[in-house]
Amino acid sequence: KKHVDILGAGLAGSEAALQLADRGVSVRLFEMRPKTKTAVHATDRCAELVCSNSLKSEKRDSAAGMLKAELSVLGSRLYALAQENRVAAGGALAVDRDAFSGAVTTRIEEHPLIELVRLEATEIPRGANATILASGPLTSEPLADAIESLTGCGHLSFYDAAAPIVMADSLDYGKLFRQSRYEEGEGDYLNAPFSKDEYERFISELVDAKRVVMKDFETRELFQACQPIEEIARKGMDAPRYGTLKPVGLTDPATGRRPWAALQLRAEDAHGESYNLVGFQTNLTFGEQARVFRMIPGLAHAEFARYGVMHRNTFIDAPRLLGRDLRLTDAGDSGCPLYVAGQLAGTEGYCEAVMSGLHAAIGVFAALSGKQAPEMPPQTAFGALLAYATDPTVTDYQPMHVNFGIMEPLPERMKNKRLRYAAYADRGEAALQAYAEALRDRGLMATERND
Ligand code: FAD
Repeated sequence: KKHVDILGAGLAGSEAALQLADRGVSVRLFEMRPKTKTAVHATDRCAELVCSNSLKSEKRDSAAGMLKAELSVLGSRLYALAQENRVAAGGALAVDRDAFSGAVTTRIEEHPLIELVRLEATEIPRGANATILASGPLTSEPLADAIESLTGCGHLSFYDAAAPIVMADSLDYGKLFRQSRYEEGEGDYLNAPFSKDEYERFISELVDAKRVVMKDFETRELFQACQPIEEIARKGMDAPRYGTLKPVGLTDPATGRRPWAALQLRAEDAHGESYNLVGFQTNLTFGEQARVFRMIPGLAHAEFARYGVMHRNTFIDAPRLLGRDLRLTDAGDSGCPLYVAGQLAGTEGYCEAVMSGLHAAIGVFAALSGKQAPEMPPQTAFGALLAYATDPTVTDYQPMHVNFGIMEPLPERMKNKRLRYAAYADRGEAALQAYAEALRDRGLMATERND
């Protein structure tokens, strides 16, 4: 019988364990709680939701809704239990958190092929046929050390500090100009030029805007690692103008002069569907980011693909370390391949963690059965995230949730947002059905419990 070790019974690890066990693989699932605690988990249950009880929108024409369709079609065990334990929440899927994690724990404890080991892993076990690392954003220190020595220095991060990303077609190109600093002609960056007036109004709003209240354990080192833009602005009206918003080397073609200040925007994805606000790491609430950052010239109607976030996290440099099957490409040859799932793999969000556990389980099961798993199509929400997270041209990787900003563009430009999102969903559904069919054909789908 094949045997897999999984580290962490969170959202990703629990899903991976059930998926493998339901395919007849025996699993040892290590969970350090309750003996060793994290700063945010409050119980000893598997798949505990550490913050909101919402698993986001169920709307078909949204990236979060597409991901749910993928979880449903591919037979996610945790998604089914979330549905069974849902509470009313408008167009979103929200759960009774205790009932949900209680149901996952019972399912795991009662499964004849899963052994739940209540022990902190301090190193990476390599005695099984494969190991999945799913110890999450608060991976304990000894295990993080073991992962860092395996992946090499600089390939494991302990904080994320992601700048906001805006959709390309929501920008006002009448106000922006394309230029790289100190270069003639059209360059790689879009620049948002501020007049003195616009700049001073923007900075005044920025310093007064509402910020996310950080948990104690997060504030200690986070701001030493990275200064949010609003903190820089609090040092003085001109401080951002000598840093992130410096205008040197830029000439606004509209005036023929150097602007008072300028924000640079860099294409976020290979298709130029979305742009990153360079150097705008921020701790403002999402509502305040929308209000204040829309004061930037050219961004009045900006649609945010992802808001900026700063928090404690643990994640690997996925573009340099992971294959699309979530396997670590260079993990030595011990006969026990290593896979990574959940937040540690560089995804962000509850449903993303569940889906990555499911995806890693498919990859492991295919490898153990000597089969080739089909590639999850990039037209699906999770396939797009996988393509982004494993794209070696992405530098300074920050964890990402599913969104339309990282999706392959549609063959035709569609101005109407509602129709465009519906087109993404239609295209994604067709790709998903073909993918599920391919999994079925190769005997890789777990339709029923198979223990
Ligand atoms: P987890 O669910 O955290 O599971 C990892 C498990 O591994 C834990 O049970 C942990 O105890 C265990 N573990 C760690 N180290 C070891 C070890 N050495 N040995 C054995 N076990 C170990 N996402 C959202 O969509 N909505 C939110 O509201 C949200 N809020 C968040 C709030 C915070 C404070 C954080 C840190 C993250 C939040 N996230 C949120 C992001 C993310 O979706 C969740 O963290 C999600 O739980 C990640 O799933 P996971 O399986 O990767 O990790």
